[in-house]
This record gives sequence, structure tokens and C-alpha cells, in this order.
Amino acid sequence: MRKQIAAANWKMNLTLQQGEQLLNDIMAMPHTLAHHQQVIFAVPSPYLQMAQLKIQGKQNVFIAAQNCYSKKSGAYTGEVSVEMLNSLGINFVVLGHSERREYFHENNQLLAEKVNICLEHAITPIFCCGEALAIREENKQNEFVSHQLKESLFHLSAEQIQQIVIAYEPIWAIGTGKTATSEQAQEMHAHIRHSLAEQYGTEVAGKISILYGGSVKAGNAGELFHQPDVDGGLVGGASLVASEFIAIINALK
Ligand code: PEP
Repeated sequence: MRKQIAAANWKMNLTLQQGEQLLNDIMAMPHTLAHHQQVIFAVPSPYLQMAQLKIQGKQNVFIAAQNCYSKKSGAYTGEVSVEMLNSLGINFVVLGHSERREYFHENNQLLAEKVNICLEHAITPIFCCGEALAIREENKQNEFVSHQLKESLFHLSAEQIQQIVIAYEPIWAIGTGKTATSEQAQEMHAHIRHSLAEQYGTEVAGKISILYGGSVKAGNAGELFHQPDVDGGLVGGASLVASEFIAIINALK
């Protein structure tokens, strides 16, 4: 079975102490993860080491960075390199979140470079894609998402693409409380898998986890995750509340 993943995106929230408390509360949950289930916490860079220490020894629990730079090292003040992540033992990074695309002008080409450097350093990108409301209103979401995948991912080999986790996050559903219906999510996830299959074949496409993101909560996670092509969620707001995120973890297939 494909990996089923509950990924928390804390964004630029919480103090160090609040983050520690949240991890303590979530880690105290009685649920044990099946071998095909993973929990990932994408925490702010200053908390990576604290978080990595907290989850030590926990099966199938990982820490992710929320971003990294496309260059190996050098005069890039304020940026975080993959070598820095390697030195902390971090294996995942969120790339191409719509907030980074919008506020920091990250485009598909830069994201392709970031994907490449991550894979060269054995870091799994959680690659975000998704359309704005205006694009969905024109019913052009499938073409839009295919284009994002093509420009940032489809230069990869079949072996490399299997190292990627994809997160479909319709921008109109992020932080808005407006979740895509389970039908809308399934329809897009099936489209993404079909695009992957066209490029890499059905066997490879069948191995890639595709997460849904956009106002996932305890109350809707079960129905969303139940869809055949939805392999878990990338969760913002609800991941900041221990009981909500634990319920989301429990909703994984
Ligand atoms: C996100 O941060 O990727 C996200 C989907 O946020 P929210 O769950 O708050 O919509």
C-alpha cells in the first residue's frame, strides 16, 4: 500500500515553548502507526533541532523543513540549505507551498531546481501544487496543475519521481475554512495520478502518495482520506491543535 501521510504545516506560528508542548501532546497519543502510515511535522527552521530530538525513536514520525534554497551554500543571507538539513537529520521539505509562490515569487523553474538539490541530498520534497479560485471558476484547474507538475517535476527519472510526495492544495481552500468536497479532491488526485501515469507508467504512478491540503479538520479528514487517490493530508490550522491533529492522524487509511 502507498504511504498514507498526515503532515502538519505549522507555517510561521507558535513559540518554541508552544511548539514543544504541542509535540509532547501529540506524541502522547495512544495510537500506533501502521507500517504504511507516516506523520510529518513541518516546523519553522529555528525549531527543527528541537522537533527532531522530540520525535527521536518514534516509528514513522518525521520532521520537515518548510522551505530550503536551491543552492548548496554561500552568500544567501537568511536561506536554509539542504546540507544544513542533512546535518540535522531532516529527510523532508515542503516545496512550492502557494504562500511561497505568492509572497516570495517562487516559480516552477526555481522549484525544479529546489527539487533537484533535495533529491541529490536524499531529502524528500513534499511538492505542493494547486489552482487559484479564478482558474477553477474557468474550469482550467486540471491543465493548470498538470503544467505545474510538468515544469517542476517531469524532468525527473522514474526512480526519482518515486521519492516525491505530492500535495494538492487548491489555493481557495487554504486557511479559508472552505474545503474541497471529497469528490473535487478525488477528481483532481485522479487527474494527477493519470498525468504521472502518462509520464512514468501506471506502476510508478501507483506508488506516489498524493496528499490533499486545504482546511482539513478532524471533522472532514475521514471522508477526504477515504477517497481512493487521497493518501492523507497536508494540514495547516488544524495541526496547531493537538486533539484535532490526533484525530486527523487517526483518520488515515
Ligand atoms: C497548508 O498550510 O498547507 C494548509 C492547507 O492550511 P489549512 O489547513 O489551514 O488550510
